[in-house]
Amino acid sequence: MVEARGEERPGGWLEERLPSVPRKPGVYLFRDSRGKVLYVGKAKDLRARLRSYAAAGDGRYHVRFLMERASKVETLVTNNETEALILENNLIKQYRPRYNIRLKDDKTYLSVKVTTKDEWPRILATRHIVRDGNTYLGPFASATGLRETLETIRKVFPLRTCSDAVFRNRSRPCLEYQIHRCLAPCVIDIDPAEYRAQLDGALKLLEGKTGELIESLKQAMLQASEEERFEDAARLRDRMAAVARIAEKQAVVSHGGGDRDVFGLCREGGIVEAQVLTVRGGKLVGHHGYHFEDYELPEEELLSSLVARFYEGERFVPDEVLLPRPIEGAAALADYLGGKRGRRVAVLVPKRGERRRLVEMAVENARQGLRERLDDSSQRERTLAEIGRRLGLASVPKRIECFDISHAGGEAVVASMVAFDEG
Ligand code: SF4
Repeated sequence: MVEARGEERPGGWLEERLPSVPRKPGVYLFRDSRGKVLYVGKAKDLRARLRSYAAAGDGRYHVRFLMERASKVETLVTNNETEALILENNLIKQYRPRYNIRLKDDKTYLSVKVTTKDEWPRILATRHIVRDGNTYLGPFASATGLRETLETIRKVFPLRTCSDAVFRNRSRPCLEYQIHRCLAPCVIDIDPAEYRAQLDGALKLLEGKTGELIESLKQAMLQASEEERFEDAARLRDRMAAVARIAEKQAVVSHGGGDRDVFGLCREGGIVEAQVLTVRGGKLVGHHGYHFEDYELPEEELLSSLVARFYEGERFVPDEVLLPRPIEGAAALADYLGGKRGRRVAVLVPKRGERRRLVEMAVENARQGLRERLDDSSQRERTLAEIGRRLGLASVPKRIECFDISHAGGEAVVASMVAFDEG
């Protein structure tokens, strides 16, 4: 552990200790004088990274602000950058440091659970992603969009929707079978390959791969009509139309297809807006927006932390992650994500072409989000100024406290206070 000795210049204490810091990959923890962890970071070369903090006197505010608060640093050496990334994630979860970014808990977003552990899987919406051997997709940015897609799946793919208890206790199929919305594996001896094909179709729809799906429904419809199974052909036509309605709502952004997550950032001082566009099968199927205030660390560190935090837990990892700027440890990040996905993942900073266009789209969305947020805060300032004017105050009210007291004939007195800070 390296400790501050009270020098005036922030970072001076750290500079003295640099020779004893290893030139190896690892993780560093800045602590305040009471030992509280303020910030956890990772580096390919710990000494080089800490040197940049020690040089806080060069006027870079983002480093200086942390050095003014930190009085100790601990380093933990790892075998490689990928291990450093995993350790950094774990330490951030453990300490929840004030100056590391935290993303909104994904429990608030809807995901899809496919009960692949069951012999006859079903598909349902959930807010809880757990390691239970089933398959999870998402989280999805729009709950309404997801519910619409699940409703279409119910109409198009005859999969079971009943609970395990109902499934086990059926002696004859339910209404779902009568209206052609379930193959009724509860009692009918159906071909598992046929059920699997229906499930694969539903997954394609969830992944936004509607082009492939429409094509296979079309082929099945043509075959049914050639074989004069006109009722089946009509049903397939209706299913195709339902899928096409979902497809219309998904903009094609990448004609080469492919699954990509595209990161965009926009920053003004300590206020940062981030956007992650999710592209599945070449279609833009969702986006996630994140907002951070009082974030003063370099943009490269922010981006690197954002990507690592974004893929924590059970989130789907695509083939490509597109970034607006290079980050240290991109190869380690690709390695880490590849480990989660089970196959190679590319982390790219595209310079031109379709991928670059996607990154620019993500950055533009982030810029727009930031603009709206700043407009919001200037609107708030105008409202506060107006309140100050109407109440004849000498200055704009930064904090407003409202009190009320009630009682029943002098008994059971209850008081409450509501406070507004900066509007
Ligand atoms: S038909 Fe059988 S398997 Fe299908 S939903 Fe009804 S009870 Fe479940």
